[in-house]
Amino acid sequence: MNTKEKDLKYIMHTYGRYDVALKSGKGVVAYDEDGKRYLDVSSGIGVNSLGYCDDGWVKAVTAQAARLQHMSNYFYSEQASNLAEKLCTLTGMAKVCFGNSGAEANECAIKIARKYSFDKYGSGRNEIVTLKNSFHGRTVTTLSATGQEVFHNFFFPFTEGFVYAEANDFSALEKAVSDKTCAVMLELIQGEGGVNILDADYVKSLFEFCKEKDILVIVDEVQTGCGRTGKLFAFENYGVKPDLITAAKGLGGGLPIGACICSEKLGEVMQPSTHGTTFGANPVVCAGANYVLDVLTSEGFLDEVEAKGKYLENKLLELEGVKNVRRMGLMVGIELCEGDVHEVAASCVKNGLLIITAKNLLRMLPPLMISREELDEAVAILNTTLEG
Ligand SMILES: *Cc1c(COP(=O)(O)O)cnc(C)c1O
Repeated sequence: MNTKEKDLKYIMHTYGRYDVALKSGKGVVAYDEDGKRYLDVSSGIGVNSLGYCDDGWVKAVTAQAARLQHMSNYFYSEQASNLAEKLCTLTGMAKVCFGNSGAEANECAIKIARKYSFDKYGSGRNEIVTLKNSFHGRTVTTLSATGQEVFHNFFFPFTEGFVYAEANDFSALEKAVSDKTCAVMLELIQGEGGVNILDADYVKSLFEFCKEKDILVIVDEVQTGCGRTGKLFAFENYGVKPDLITAAKGLGGGLPIGACICSEKLGEVMQPSTHGTTFGANPVVCAGANYVLDVLTSEGFLDEVEAKGKYLENKLLELEGVKNVRRMGLMVGIELCEGDVHEVAASCVKNGLLIITAKNLLRMLPPLMISREELDEAVAILNTTLEG
C-alpha cells in the first residue's frame, strides 16, 4: 500500500485531504513523494512561520533534543522560563501557562476566567460571551465557545455557559452580557470564519465596556498571533489591552505548543493542581518557539510582514478573477468573482500552489519570511489557475 492507501485504511477521515503526500521542504517550497515542487502559502495553516526547516530553527530544536527532550513540569526548565519571559515582556503581560495546542490554550483561558470570577464573586458568574462565526477549537468546551451552529452537533451535551453575539455589533454585545457574564472571548480577525477583520471602534467600545464591569477580555490569537498580522500580536493593531491572550499555531515554528498569557491581576488565579498537561512546556518545543520569537522580533522583520502583505494585496487586486482582498499583515482572504473556492484551491494545488480556504474565500497564510519574488510566483500560479 502507498501512503494514501494506508492513510485511507488506517487513519480516521476527520479531514478531506488534497491528493498530495508531502515529503520534504525548505523555505517556502515543499516536495511531494514524486519530487513535485509546491510553493506553500498556507504554512500548515499558519504554523510554519519561518517556512520549512529554517536552519537556525532546526539547530535550536535538534540541539535541545540531543540535550534533554522532556522533563515533567515538576522541574524548572530553562527553555520554558526563557520563553515565558519573552512572551510576557513582549506583550506587557504577567504570566504564561503552556499547553500543546490552540484549543488547550483556550480551555486554559476559559478556566482562568471562570476561576477569577468564582474567587472574587462566588458561583454563578460564569458565562462567556463569544462572537458568531468565531472558531476556538475542537474540544467539547471550545466547540461550545465556537459561535457557529454547524459545530454544535453530535457530541451532546456541550459545555454550558456560552452566549453568542453578532460580531461588530456593540448593542448585540450589550444584550448578550448579563450579571452572569465573567468574560468575552474573541478573535480580532476571525480566521476560520472567513478572515473577518473586526472594526476598531467596536473593539475599543467592547474593551471599555468590559473593563467597567470587570468582565475579562480573552483574545484568541491562535491564528492572528506570532507576527501574522505585522505586529507580534493582533491586539497591538487595535491599541487595546486584553486580560488573556492565547497563542499556538505559529509560535513553535512547526512544533505543537499552546500558550495562555494573562495580565497581572490574573497571575495568581491558577494554583498547583488547578491545571496542567504532561507535554506542556516541552523543552524541545520551547527551544523552537524561543528561536521563532527571536527572529520575529529582530530589527525590521514585522514591518516587512505588513509591507509584503500590502505588496501581495496589490498584486492580487490586479487579477481579473479577484473581487476583493481582506488582509492584515500576511493573513489574507481572497474573494473571487466566481467559482467554488474548494475547487479553485484543489486546482491551485495541482498547479503547484498550496493554498487553503476559509468559508467562501481563498486564504493565504504564507510563511512570514516569504520573499516578494515568491509572492509574485504564488500570484502567477493563482492567476493561471483562475484563467483555467
Ligand atoms: C486553529 C485555531 C484554534 C484551534 O487550535 P488547535 O491547535 O487546532 O487546537 C483556536 N482558535 C483559533 C482562532 C484558531 O485559528
